[in-house]
Order: sequence, then structure tokens, then C-alpha cells
Amino acid sequence: KFITVEGTEGVGKTTNLEYIKSWLQRNKIDFIATREPGGTPLAEQLRDLLLQPRNDETVAENAELLMVFAARAQHLNQVIKPALESGTWVLCDRFTDATYAYQGGGRCMDQATIAILENLVQGDLRPDAVILLDVSVQIGLARARGRGELDRFEQEDVAFFERVRAAYRSRADGNSSYHVVDAGQELDRVQQQLAIVLEQLGKR
Ligand code: C5P
Ligand code: MG
Repeated sequence: KFITVEGTEGVGKTTNLEYIKSWLQRNKIDFIATREPGGTPLAEQLRDLLLQPRNDETVAENAELLMVFAARAQHLNQVIKPALESGTWVLCDRFTDATYAYQGGGRCMDQATIAILENLVQGDLRPDAVILLDVSVQIGLARARGRGELDRFEQEDVAFFERVRAAYRSRADGNSSYHVVDAGQELDRVQQQLAIVLEQLGKR
């Protein structure tokens, strides 16, 4: 199974990914945990360039989009596909839904263009479950900005993150592989809901 975890800044992705990993271990499921952009040495280099470009040059939107997908193509071929083919579960911190949310929603890029690259890079491969941790932008940014140095995306304004969140939520709408979890609840409640999603997935 291919599980991805998504959300805007400060939703608790890191904490909840740790919970999911411990759940998979407890249930003796063979898995790898990886992240995007990144997951291979080359893709991690692209991540560094995306998050902290080495000079003050503005990153063209199409360049950003292609770099995200270049990293993804490498990650899929080197890591994700081989794992799935051998029956190993893959837990990925962000995937293509982040592109629809950040580049599509946040940067207002055309969804149809993203879909073309998605098909080019992934063929018909899609996550079995997309876990969307959802919390108001205000709460999320307050958490994220308490963490210290901000990457290039974290420096965007509230309106940008409102568009990112709206894009995520609209993708989740009516899509049965999406599981929206209210990340504003107590952590216990969030993790109970994650456990239910994982149990269902294990049975399919
Ligand atoms: O740790 P985190 O997942 O938040 O770091 C990834 C960063 O890359 C985020 O700031 C996110 O906004 C950005 N990103 C992006 N487009 C993607 C994937 C990630 O802008 N498709
Ligand atoms: Mg971040």
C-alpha cells in the first residue's frame, strides 16, 4: 500500500508520521518511510534548491513545478516503485497532492498542466490513501513559525496558505482515497482516527 500524508504548515505532520510508523511496526507491516520533495540523494539536492535557492534569483513557477516533478520521477523510480513491487508499504511525507495544493492552489498554476506532468511521471500510479491533516491556517502558521528559520514556502503570506488549504480540501471532496483528519483536535483523537484509517487499509 502507498500512503501519503499531507497538510499545510504546522498541522503536526512530523508527530503524526511518527505515530503512523509506530502503528505499522506494532502491526508487523513491512514498510519504508520517505518524503517529498526528496527521498533519494538527487531528489534531496533538488529539495535543497527548491527550499533555499543559492542566490536571490526568483524561481520561475514552471521551473519550480518541473523541479518538484523531476525529484518525484527520481524518487518513484529509485525508491517507491521498487518497494511497492516487492509488497513493502510506502509511507510518504507529501506527494503529488502537495503539488496540486502548493503550486496549483498556492501559486495559482493550471491544474491541467499539473495533471499532464502527473500522468507523465506516474502513469496510473496513485496513493492508496492520502491522509490530509487539516487545521486552520492561523493555528498552523502560529505553530510553524514558532519553529525558527523558515524555508522559502513558509515565508509566503496567509492568503497563499489559505489557497493551499482550500486546494487540499477540494481534492479531498468526494475522493474515497482521501482521509481528512481534523488536526486541531487533541493528539489522542487525531491518532485514534489515524489508527482507524490504517486498520481499514490493512484489510483491503
Ligand atoms: O517539511 P515540509 O513537508 O513542510 O517541507 C516541504 C516544503 O516544500 C514545504 O514548505 C512545502 O510548502 C514545500 N513544497 C512545495 N511543493 C510541493 C511539495 C512541497 O512547495 N509539491
Ligand atoms: Mg514545512
